[in-house]
Amino acid sequence: MRRYTMKERRETETIFCNGCGKEIKIKDGVIREGLLSVEKRWGYFSDKDNEVHRFDLCEECYDRMVSQFVIPVEKENEV
Ligand SMILES: [Zn+2]
Repeated sequence: MRRYTMKERRETETIFCNGCGKEIKIKDGVIREGLLSVEKRWGYFSDKDNEVHRFDLCEECYDRMVSQFVIPVEKENEV
C-alpha cells in the first residue's frame, strides 16, 4: 500500500508492507530495504477479469510467503 503526495510529478512518500503493516524505510526517494512490489492485471480466464491488484511486501513477509511454497523459489546471483 502506498501513499503519494501530489507535486509536479508523483513521488512515493510512504510505503507500508501489506503483510505486516510496517513502514518501509525511504530516504531521499530511495527505498532502503528489501521490498517486493507486485502489480497484477487479472485476465479474462481468471475469476477477476480486468481487476488490477497491487501490493508491497517487506523482506520478512516475502520470506514467510515463499517458505510455504511446495516448490522452492528459483535463485540466481546476477554478476
Ligand atoms: Zn511485512
